[in-house]
Amino acid sequence: MKQSAVYPGTFDPITLGHVDVVNRGLKLFDHVVIGVAENPNKEPMFDLEARLRMVSQTFQDESRVEVVAFSGLLVELAQTQKAEAILRGLRAASDFEYEFQMATMNRRLDEKIETAFVMAREDYTFVSSRFIREISSMGGDVSALVPESVIPYLEGSK
Ligand code: ADP
Repeated sequence: MKQSAVYPGTFDPITLGHVDVVNRGLKLFDHVVIGVAENPNKEPMFDLEARLRMVSQTFQDESRVEVVAFSGLLVELAQTQKAEAILRGLRAASDFEYEFQMATMNRRLDEKIETAFVMAREDYTFVSSRFIREISSMGGDVSALVPESVIPYLEGSK
Protein backbone atom coordinates (compact mmCIF):
# COMPACT_ATOMS: atom_id res chain seq x y z
CA MET A 1 0.00 0.00 0.00
CA LYS A 2 1.15 3.50 -0.81
CA GLN A 3 2.09 5.54 2.22
CA SER A 4 1.81 9.30 2.26
CA ALA A 5 2.67 12.10 4.61
CA VAL A 6 1.57 15.70 4.79
CA TYR A 7 4.30 18.24 5.43
CA PRO A 8 2.75 21.43 6.79
CA GLY A 9 4.41 24.79 7.14
CA THR A 10 4.19 28.47 6.41
CA PHE A 11 7.05 28.39 3.86
CA ASP A 12 7.53 32.16 4.05
CA PRO A 13 9.63 31.53 1.95
CA ILE A 14 10.60 27.89 1.35
CA THR A 15 14.28 27.26 2.19
CA LEU A 16 16.77 24.51 1.36
CA GLY A 17 16.15 23.25 4.91
CA HIS A 18 12.52 22.59 3.95
CA VAL A 19 13.60 21.00 0.65
CA ASP A 20 15.94 18.67 2.53
CA VAL A 21 13.11 17.67 4.89
CA VAL A 22 10.87 16.84 1.89
CA ASN A 23 13.61 14.79 0.21
CA ARG A 24 14.19 12.82 3.40
CA GLY A 25 10.43 12.35 3.70
CA LEU A 26 10.43 10.83 0.21
CA LYS A 27 12.79 8.11 1.46
CA LEU A 28 10.19 7.11 4.06
CA PHE A 29 6.95 7.74 2.18
CA ASP A 30 5.79 7.15 -1.40
CA HIS A 31 4.11 10.51 -1.57
CA VAL A 32 4.56 13.83 0.26
CA VAL A 33 1.81 16.45 0.24
CA ILE A 34 3.20 19.85 1.17
CA GLY A 35 0.52 21.85 2.98
CA VAL A 36 1.14 25.58 2.71
CA ALA A 37 -0.65 27.15 5.67
CA GLU A 38 -2.59 30.31 5.08
CA ASN A 39 -1.58 31.48 8.59
CA PRO A 40 -2.89 35.07 8.50
CA ASN A 41 -2.08 35.56 12.21
CA LYS A 42 1.62 35.08 11.44
CA GLU A 43 1.37 38.02 9.00
CA PRO A 44 3.52 36.35 6.33
CA MET A 45 5.80 38.45 4.16
CA PHE A 46 4.63 36.60 1.04
CA ASP A 47 0.93 36.04 0.37
CA LEU A 48 -0.44 32.53 0.03
CA GLU A 49 -0.37 32.62 -3.78
CA ALA A 50 3.31 33.57 -3.87
CA ARG A 51 4.24 30.95 -1.26
CA LEU A 52 2.34 28.28 -3.20
CA ARG A 53 4.08 29.26 -6.44
CA MET A 54 7.55 29.18 -4.87
CA VAL A 55 6.94 25.71 -3.38
CA SER A 56 5.31 24.33 -6.56
CA GLN A 57 8.12 25.57 -8.79
CA THR A 58 10.70 24.02 -6.47
CA PHE A 59 9.16 20.56 -6.83
CA GLN A 60 7.83 20.81 -10.39
CA ASP A 61 9.96 17.85 -11.54
CA GLU A 62 9.12 15.61 -8.58
CA SER A 63 5.95 13.65 -9.36
CA ARG A 64 5.76 12.25 -5.82
CA VAL A 65 5.29 15.70 -4.31
CA GLU A 66 2.00 17.56 -4.35
CA VAL A 67 1.45 21.10 -3.09
CA VAL A 68 -1.82 22.25 -1.55
CA ALA A 69 -2.99 25.26 0.45
CA PHE A 70 -4.68 24.73 3.77
CA SER A 71 -6.23 26.59 6.65
CA GLY A 72 -8.02 24.80 9.47
CA LEU A 73 -6.88 21.72 11.30
CA LEU A 74 -3.78 19.83 10.25
CA VAL A 75 -5.33 16.45 11.09
CA GLU A 76 -8.19 17.33 8.73
CA LEU A 77 -5.68 17.97 5.96
CA ALA A 78 -4.09 14.59 6.70
CA GLN A 79 -7.53 12.93 6.67
CA THR A 80 -8.65 14.51 3.39
CA GLN A 81 -5.31 13.63 1.78
CA LYS A 82 -5.59 10.07 3.15
CA ALA A 83 -2.12 10.47 4.67
CA GLU A 84 -0.81 8.11 7.32
CA ALA A 85 1.54 10.65 8.81
CA ILE A 86 2.51 14.24 9.42
CA LEU A 87 6.10 15.06 8.48
CA ARG A 88 8.02 17.71 10.43
CA GLY A 89 11.64 18.77 10.56
CA LEU A 90 13.78 19.29 13.63
CA ARG A 91 16.70 21.67 13.67
CA ALA A 92 17.75 21.97 17.29
CA ALA A 93 16.48 21.29 20.78
CA SER A 94 14.71 24.64 20.60
CA ASP A 95 12.31 23.23 18.00
CA PHE A 96 11.49 20.27 20.18
CA GLU A 97 9.13 21.79 22.74
CA TYR A 98 6.76 23.25 20.18
CA GLU A 99 6.92 20.20 17.94
CA PHE A 100 6.29 17.90 20.88
CA GLN A 101 3.20 19.88 21.89
CA MET A 102 1.88 19.97 18.36
CA ALA A 103 2.44 16.24 17.80
CA THR A 104 0.75 15.42 21.11
CA MET A 105 -2.25 17.64 20.32
CA ASN A 106 -2.59 16.14 16.87
CA ARG A 107 -2.46 12.66 18.33
CA ARG A 108 -5.27 13.61 20.71
CA LEU A 109 -7.29 14.80 17.72
CA ASP A 110 -6.64 11.69 15.62
CA GLU A 111 -4.61 8.88 17.11
CA LYS A 112 -4.30 7.06 13.80
CA ILE A 113 -2.06 9.75 12.35
CA GLU A 114 1.61 9.49 13.33
CA THR A 115 4.02 12.42 13.36
CA ALA A 116 7.40 11.59 11.79
CA PHE A 117 10.41 13.82 12.42
CA VAL A 118 13.48 14.09 10.26
CA MET A 119 16.62 16.15 10.72
CA ALA A 120 17.83 18.30 7.87
CA ARG A 121 21.48 18.26 6.80
CA GLU A 122 23.77 19.88 9.37
CA ASP A 123 24.58 22.77 7.05
CA TYR A 124 20.93 23.79 7.15
CA THR A 125 20.33 23.63 10.89
CA PHE A 126 20.67 27.40 11.16
CA VAL A 127 18.42 28.10 8.18
CA SER A 128 14.97 29.47 8.92
CA SER A 129 12.49 31.44 6.84
CA ARG A 130 12.76 34.26 9.37
CA PHE A 131 16.51 34.65 8.90
CA ILE A 132 16.15 34.45 5.15
CA ARG A 133 13.63 37.33 5.26
CA GLU A 134 15.75 39.41 7.62
CA ILE A 135 19.11 38.92 5.91
CA SER A 136 17.63 39.43 2.48
CA SER A 137 15.77 42.61 3.48
CA MET A 138 19.10 44.02 4.66
CA GLY A 139 20.71 43.24 1.32
CA GLY A 140 22.53 40.04 2.37
CA ASP A 141 23.06 37.20 -0.09
CA VAL A 142 20.93 34.18 0.77
CA SER A 143 21.03 32.55 -2.67
CA ALA A 144 22.87 29.48 -1.32
CA LEU A 145 20.12 28.84 1.23
CA VAL A 146 16.91 28.98 -0.81
CA PRO A 147 15.69 27.22 -3.97
CA GLU A 148 16.17 29.20 -7.17
CA SER A 149 12.44 29.86 -7.50
CA VAL A 150 12.56 32.03 -4.37
CA ILE A 151 15.23 34.50 -5.56
CA PRO A 152 13.01 36.67 -7.81
CA TYR A 153 10.50 36.94 -4.98
CA LEU A 154 13.18 38.06 -2.51
CA GLU A 155 14.50 40.56 -5.03
CA GLY A 156 10.99 41.96 -5.30
CA SER A 157 10.80 41.35 -9.03
CA LYS A 158 7.77 39.05 -8.52
P1 ADP B 1 5.77 26.64 10.81
O1 ADP B 1 5.19 28.01 10.70
O2 ADP B 1 4.75 25.56 10.89
O3 ADP B 1 6.87 26.48 11.83
P2 ADP B 1 7.86 26.54 8.85
O4 ADP B 1 7.67 26.80 7.39
O5 ADP B 1 8.67 27.54 9.59
O6 ADP B 1 6.40 26.41 9.39
O7 ADP B 1 8.48 25.11 9.10
C1 ADP B 1 7.84 23.92 8.70
C2 ADP B 1 8.58 22.71 9.27
O8 ADP B 1 9.89 22.62 8.71
C3 ADP B 1 8.81 22.70 10.77
O9 ADP B 1 8.67 21.36 11.22
C4 ADP B 1 10.21 23.17 10.94
O10 ADP B 1 10.78 22.70 12.14
C5 ADP B 1 10.85 22.52 9.73
N1 ADP B 1 12.07 23.21 9.30
C6 ADP B 1 12.18 24.46 8.85
N2 ADP B 1 13.47 24.76 8.53
C7 ADP B 1 14.19 23.63 8.80
C8 ADP B 1 15.57 23.29 8.70
N3 ADP B 1 16.48 24.17 8.31
N4 ADP B 1 15.94 22.05 9.07
C9 ADP B 1 15.01 21.15 9.52
N5 ADP B 1 13.70 21.41 9.63
C10 ADP B 1 13.28 22.63 9.28
